[in-house]
Amino acid sequence: MTDTFVFAAPEASHTLPLVFDSPHSGQLFPSDFVSRVQPEQLLTGCDLFVDDLWESVPAVGGHLLSARYSRMYVDLNRAPDDIDPLLLEGPLEGINPTAYSERGMGLIRRLALPDVPMYDSRFSLSQIHTRIHEYHKPYHQQLKSTLDALHERFSGVWHIDCHSMKSRGNRMNIDSGALRPDVVLGDNDGHSAGADFIDVIEQAFVRLGYSVVRNSPYKGGYLVRNYGDVTNNRHSMQIEINRALYMNEQKFSPNENYAAFKKDLFTISQQIADFVAHTAA
Ligand SMILES: [Zn+2]
Repeated sequence: MTDTFVFAAPEASHTLPLVFDSPHSGQLFPSDFVSRVQPEQLLTGCDLFVDDLWESVPAVGGHLLSARYSRMYVDLNRAPDDIDPLLLEGPLEGINPTAYSERGMGLIRRLALPDVPMYDSRFSLSQIHTRIHEYHKPYHQQLKSTLDALHERFSGVWHIDCHSMKSRGNRMNIDSGALRPDVVLGDNDGHSAGADFIDVIEQAFVRLGYSVVRNSPYKGGYLVRNYGDVTNNRHSMQIEINRALYMNEQKFSPNENYAAFKKDLFTISQQIADFVAHTAA
């Protein structure tokens, strides 16, 4: 399948070794998706509008990869073997469930929301493998080949994994009930990106008046951990933006601040691009 993601590249003459990706903004479901969970409940797990908010990334020299299908079908920010044993029928071979699966939000979600199961029946391993091969793998192949090609050409590459967060966590989140800052930057506690990269991004947000917290409650998920390799000059960061800044969280619609916030993200992406242009070989 080739239509499971959207990939936008900058003009060749402006190309920087900078890649943004939005794995959770997709809203499509394949026809084999069967769930009695309400559409609004499915939407709460998605990073609605995040692909559009960062739309200007190619204009500043970066690449932008966005998923078209919902993370409630298969989560691209999970390892392909992070499979919840409670979703499986038959033998539990080749699975490696993490704390995400334990909280009901592994590769295939068991819970849409606290106490709201996604599915009435269990899956065979081959049903799960189909989701991996048709949706998870193509996205990661595109991301990896883009990062690899840029790394080869520029001897370094900078990746930003873009997400959104509810303004207050629920019981499936490790900060249940807490009000969140405007922005949470995750670099896996300094392990997935160089310190200057997170500094530049933090300063860009702070300069525009946004509150920023590092690595709490989000350190970065599978994408950041999988693609960050600082010793080889591969830097991977996660940006979580607070949904209250740009959308009505109950109605799932843009709020009156949407356009202004999108413009701020353009300013911020420009500053990130300047950093990469200066830092890259
Ligand atoms: Zn997300």
